[in-house]
Amino acid sequence: MIEVAPMPDELTAGHLGRLGWLNGCLNENDLTVMIKDAVVKLGFDPESMPRLRQLALLSNMDGHDYARKHSMLASFRVAAKAGKNFDHGAETSAAYSKRLGMLPQRGGAYCCPQCIAEDLKDWGFSWYRRNHHLVGIDWCVVHDSKLSLVDHRNAFSRVPHLWQMENKLIPLTVVVEHLPQNGFLRRFAEISTMLLARERPFLADRINGALAKQAAALELRLSRTGRRPLISDRLSTQVAAPWLCAHLPSWHEKQPSEYFQRIDALATMKTLPGVGEAYAMAMASLYDTTETAMEDVCAAETGQQRTPSKHRRVSRGATFWNGEFWPYYLKCHGQINVIAERLQLDADHVGEVLAALGLPSLHNHEQSKRWAAFIRFCSGESLSAACIAEQVNQSEVEVLLRKCSARVMLAIRKIKNDPPIAQKRSPSGLGERILSPRARHEDNHRASEVRRETDDQRLHSERQTTDPTRHLGNRRFCAK
Ligand SMILES: [Zn+2]
Repeated sequence: MIEVAPMPDELTAGHLGRLGWLNGCLNENDLTVMIKDAVVKLGFDPESMPRLRQLALLSNMDGHDYARKHSMLASFRVAAKAGKNFDHGAETSAAYSKRLGMLPQRGGAYCCPQCIAEDLKDWGFSWYRRNHHLVGIDWCVVHDSKLSLVDHRNAFSRVPHLWQMENKLIPLTVVVEHLPQNGFLRRFAEISTMLLARERPFLADRINGALAKQAAALELRLSRTGRRPLISDRLSTQVAAPWLCAHLPSWHEKQPSEYFQRIDALATMKTLPGVGEAYAMAMASLYDTTETAMEDVCAAETGQQRTPSKHRRVSRGATFWNGEFWPYYLKCHGQINVIAERLQLDADHVGEVLAALGLPSLHNHEQSKRWAAFIRFCSGESLSAACIAEQVNQSEVEVLLRKCSARVMLAIRKIKNDPPIAQKRSPSGLGERILSPRARHEDNHRASEVRRETDDQRLHSERQTTDPTRHLGNRRFCAK
């Protein structure tokens, strides 16, 4: 048998299909026999062994590791009852591996034409990714463009580019052409992707409790009857109805103020787990940012409580942040805690708004080599030379450059009381842009990231919003 190593984020069903395809198996039965023989040769009994575990063995991978990287168990089992929250792919959860280990969360085989083009260029072949098979995410989270469905009964038997050559890819009908940079759908995509990376389910009582608390804080109703709106009512105002109808069974029957079991029960059930994608929807609905949502449910899991801020999360509006705020940033030396104290605002909130404005915390920047390289680069040195001079990893500085608007360098100079010098470079090419486009980044600046970005215009428009979810982007999830 030809060994077939799984590709990054490759879906189990796709990996199985590729194994059969590369070994010339004529049908499913052929493939099963081949796998069983190979498992026996490795000294294991294939009978009653989940297919997931068989594939892990044939990939020389630990079962748990293979499940975490290639199955969608983490999306199916976001939460579990106490005593049942076994690691995904563990021996103790073999029943789940058997039932769900080879299934995509979303029925069908999906792919992204841009991913196919990149795979062909980089690898010479393409594969099916898990993050294209998450319920509700109709877009590639790397390229933000809509996915296509393979129009074939046995889609995983062939790799995506072969179907593309046969014109068997049908673009999805979507509520928006591209995954929005902020708002509910972006948070939902990010949260779903983060949940997929988890090693084990949350304890149902803990995550349900965290959602109930957050819903109560938003003055939503937790009971079946009453006047106040429910989580499902909030959800209905955040995303287009066709999306909800497509991804929530029976949503078309939902009436305002009427209890919708799949969503509202998450905050009212004490110990029972809900459906995986419903958790991601409720989290994206109840929290302003992906980070707060994940922090809150993770803190509940460990029994810690997020320290409630002594300040209210009342913002000052876009006019303040885009104008009047600037002197505060300078006077407080870009230190978020100091700014928050001065403005009597929640520090987390200030951090989120500043991130959206491209103004990160400058706390201790004088001592940081990363910042030193950043300053060198903004003063005209090539990125590689700046990184060598400061002995810092280029990728770390690239991360910083992506976070910063051009005003950051201006602030650093003002804080240092430097007289302004002729500005040669503008970080990220944003805001007060001076740099010509990518062509001038001859030193492979952001080389690994450039292909992930559609164009400078999109980046520019990203910076125009103060939505705190914007800064998360999609790149954090595509890094391998
Ligand atoms: Zn893609």
